[in-house]
Amino acid sequence: MSPIGNTLICVRWLITGTATGPHAIENAALIFNEAGVITAVGKAADLASSENITNRIDLQNHLLAPGLINAHCHAAMSLLRGAADDLPLHRWLQERIWPMEGELVDDDFVQTGTQLAVAEMLLGGTTTCVDMYFYSRTVARVFLAAGMRGVLALPVIDFPTRYASDADAYIATGLSVRDEFADEPLLSFALAPHAPYTISDATFTRVLAFANELGLPVHTHLQETELEVTDAVAQSGERPTARLARLGALGPDFFAAHCVHLNEDDIATLAHHGASVVHCPSSNLKLASGLAPVAQMLAAGINVGLGTDGAASNNRLDMFEEMRLAALIGKVQANDASAVNAAQAFTMATLGGARATGLANVTGSLEVGKATDLIALALDSPGMTPLFDPVSHFVYAASRADVSDVWVAGVQRVKDGALTGAAAHTMSELAPSIQSIRERVTALRK
Ligand SMILES: [Zn+2]
Repeated sequence: MSPIGNTLICVRWLITGTATGPHAIENAALIFNEAGVITAVGKAADLASSENITNRIDLQNHLLAPGLINAHCHAAMSLLRGAADDLPLHRWLQERIWPMEGELVDDDFVQTGTQLAVAEMLLGGTTTCVDMYFYSRTVARVFLAAGMRGVLALPVIDFPTRYASDADAYIATGLSVRDEFADEPLLSFALAPHAPYTISDATFTRVLAFANELGLPVHTHLQETELEVTDAVAQSGERPTARLARLGALGPDFFAAHCVHLNEDDIATLAHHGASVVHCPSSNLKLASGLAPVAQMLAAGINVGLGTDGAASNNRLDMFEEMRLAALIGKVQANDASAVNAAQAFTMATLGGARATGLANVTGSLEVGKATDLIALALDSPGMTPLFDPVSHFVYAASRADVSDVWVAGVQRVKDGALTGAAAHTMSELAPSIQSIRERVTALRK
């Protein structure tokens, strides 16, 4: 339940994360109303005596920041965490993941896996997740029950699964879910053709027609591996980004995951169309896909968000790790220690994801009028001491274990490091389902 009246939170440090940068305020305060909307951000000395405050929370030696945005995930794949390690992407998909998914993925699998993923993400400070997976109706219900903000990337793929028989069936099923949940403020929707190598021109064209008509963003995997690019060029003479540009897919409502193997023309094309990229550093490292040219994308003016990808290729849904890796890998890839600095990595993990998904007026920063998607980190631990620059600490020193409290739309979902309310029993309630799926995965791995 939302708190009644206005809530004031006082804290040692607050990072706003606005479009002009992740500004830190010392001895700060934030007020939100019972609709879960931020009504004031500033110095505690200025806000503590505000009128009509019904709830006061003094977090003392903590740091408040916008909730993190996982802009590319396959949440239910948390159940395949560690089920197929140490393989390159195409063998990982074709020899392990797709066969296992073919046997296992149904409504129950998606419900259990998404509940597990949502619990992991909330506890780790992620308040919004883009979920590209099957059984979207079930996914929607899980996100709503947990009170997590979800962008349901409605899947389309040119081969049959138990979820849908062909591209038209994927689109129709996805859009029926979107219609059913269109009024839920925590949910938004995108159309998600899986990847250029699994989607025909005809299917892309149909998806784009629906996206344009309904005003939905389009999300896809793009140029994740070198093989994807060389295969496409060998088959058609066209790089995937050029193909998507020709089909009219690229624009401010288009956001692509990975984009590891981009050349200068690809970067210029994405930048020209105002498209966003979701960088997934852990997944790219684990599958040895490569190092995405993030510094070059940022220099070209491309908006970049961050994602974990699914837990089967990560194996964590930990946005603190993605943020830190984005900064570290960005430096090595650019051969420049000043590249992808702390402020840029912070923005990618927050406002960058919000911009990519069309939610920049709702979440991604702590500003008046936005939803109270808010996380608090404890600053007392040895690993967080001493503190000179809160943004530096947030990116380079902090981990998800430092997250103490989480609010989504003004409702506290994590308190003192534990899920609140009925969600406190999530793990014990999920245990029988997880055990039975674990036994089926174990049998398939033999
Ligand atoms: Zn993915």
